[in-house]
Amino acid sequence: MTILINPATGEPVDEVPDSTPTDVAAAVRAGRDAFTHWRDTTPADRARLLLRLADLVEADAEELTRLEVEETGKPAAVFRDGELPFAIDNLRFFAGAARSLDGTGAGVLSSGYTSALIRRPIGVIGSIAPWNFPFIMAVWKIGPAIAAGNAVVIKPAPATPRSTLRLAALMAEAGAPDGLLQVVTGGAGIGQALVTDPGVDMVGVTGSTATGRAVMRGAVDGLKRVHLELGGKAPALVFDDASLADMAFGVTMGATYNTGQDCTAATRVYIARSRYDEALEALHAAMEQVRPGDPWSDETDIGPLISAAHRDRVHGFVTRASGRVLLGGKPIDAPGFYYPPTLIADADQASEIVQGEIFGPVLVALPFDSEEEAVRLANDTPYGLASSIWSADVARALRVAHQLDVGVTWINDHLPIASEAPHGGVKGSGFGKDMSQEAVQEYSVVRHLMIKHAAPEARDSFRPA
Ligand code: NAD
Repeated sequence: MTILINPATGEPVDEVPDSTPTDVAAAVRAGRDAFTHWRDTTPADRARLLLRLADLVEADAEELTRLEVEETGKPAAVFRDGELPFAIDNLRFFAGAARSLDGTGAGVLSSGYTSALIRRPIGVIGSIAPWNFPFIMAVWKIGPAIAAGNAVVIKPAPATPRSTLRLAALMAEAGAPDGLLQVVTGGAGIGQALVTDPGVDMVGVTGSTATGRAVMRGAVDGLKRVHLELGGKAPALVFDDASLADMAFGVTMGATYNTGQDCTAATRVYIARSRYDEALEALHAAMEQVRPGDPWSDETDIGPLISAAHRDRVHGFVTRASGRVLLGGKPIDAPGFYYPPTLIADADQASEIVQGEIFGPVLVALPFDSEEEAVRLANDTPYGLASSIWSADVARALRVAHQLDVGVTWINDHLPIASEAPHGGVKGSGFGKDMSQEAVQEYSVVRHLMIKHAAPEARDSFRPA
């Protein structure tokens, strides 16, 4: 049994049974049974299921908000009015995407033969999700896989399982066949049981880079496809012609949204030296406005960190940091695991606070002297997920964007996402795309069907056509 703790109070809120390896094996077997039927459904069937699910999720907003807020401590309004409607839009997008998959077609590719290229699902997908956006992450895993015709066994993070369990119940209510979507609960051990189960054909994980490696290793013997959405350390590059007011607002939002527990969070801000002091002042003023507090209050901008252990981890990064702490830097003395927006200037590029994924509301600022140096510093971490460029010069912003080794670059903003746009990184941030048509493609494989239509007299040699 896992006891779930409300991070805003430190008090237990519920308990959830832990799955055993035997449960995982049974779930995978049931998934295989469901797959043998689901793979032959039409795109219209799959779209109908996802659209029904989206409607049920919409109707269940209050309960889903309660579950998500109790387990993560994120502000209720942020989830109910932002993340949940976005997840519903994702489901509706995947319903549409199911009906417009690329990579299919037919043609005469070799004389005397008609070829058909057919996109087929992969099988049973083992999905593993993190705790920072439990509901959205579950939708990003389940939506494209089901749209492409697969069955899914998903393992949410041990601290945040209930919105995923609820999603599976709504999926059943929407008319999903038995076994199409199942949830197993537990930690790394149950995750590995899922990854290594021979009945699982592909594994997808959103989590830390270390977890991505462990999942990839677990998938090696079965030569399984892997889909890895891992950590990030996004830079924001602020050029001398940027609007500092817009930058301060956007980078603060990027650094503190979800209390910084976001793989695309703005974590390093590199500022043109001529405007460094001015930009630090603007950032200080903006970050000071961000209000940590009770997740159920409309006055609250950010909630607590996920656990006491994670708060200690974040604070450890800050206490070991080189540079000047300009704002925050100490846990908030209150019940719950609160940590304030924290701004650190002049850290060493090579140091842990600049290189490592902190996953808290901590922003590190450094100056740069040239465009080349800004690009070099931005690319100089093991990660490559997100980035932003702040400049009034569109040509420069584009030139710099093309040199960043990342999955997404925002220009004059940081964070917004859309169902149609792929989300995923390079380098230590993994590979594989969530959302967009790309995600649906990745949960499917193209096969070739070659039909001979040449007349019998064409059979005149043993050379291949
Ligand atoms: P985590 O890596 O600790 O855990 C993620 C999931 O993997 C959990 O369900 C966990 O139980 C499971 N797990 C852990 N070790 C495992 C193992 N050896 N084998 C199988 N499963 C295992 O991550 P977290 O702390 O839950 O989430 C935060 C991390 O997720 C951060 O690094 C963040 O950047 C990353 N993240 C990435 C994206 C993205 O899209 N790239 C999005 C959100 C979060």
